[in-house]
Amino acid sequence: MSESEQRRGVVAVIEPGGHKLPLSMAGPGAMGKTGYWRTQRPVVNYERCTGCYLCWLYCPDNVIEMVPGKGPRGQDIPVIDYDYCKGCGVCAAVCPVKAIDMVDESKFLAREKEEGGGNA
Ligand code: SF4
Ligand code: SF4
Repeated sequence: MSESEQRRGVVAVIEPGGHKLPLSMAGPGAMGKTGYWRTQRPVVNYERCTGCYLCWLYCPDNVIEMVPGKGPRGQDIPVIDYDYCKGCGVCAAVCPVKAIDMVDESKFLAREKEEGGGNA
């Protein structure tokens, strides 16, 4: 692995079919607070969530933290960092009990405007 690849956070280089493909660890923030890219926001229904960790596992940006034992039934629950979540919807798609809804970001912007706040 080259020095430049190491600087960019590349942890491995694979060559499927002869094409060089650098792999890096998922992580928030190489481009700053990317949450403003979002057009839809994932909202977790903790009553429905079973704490299975699948959303945490599949989030491509690694912006979901699992908080142990804080669910209404004592289950571990996902907390999403909206400063960096890009709203891709992968977490909602993989949730086996449909506990994550993707909600139009405009709904939150309107509410934050009313409250005099800003967006994440
Ligand atoms: S919408 Fe995408 S980036 Fe945001 S928490 Fe879900 S999987 Fe991660
Ligand atoms: S995938 Fe669904 S059930 Fe599993 S932890 Fe995430 S929100 Fe909860």
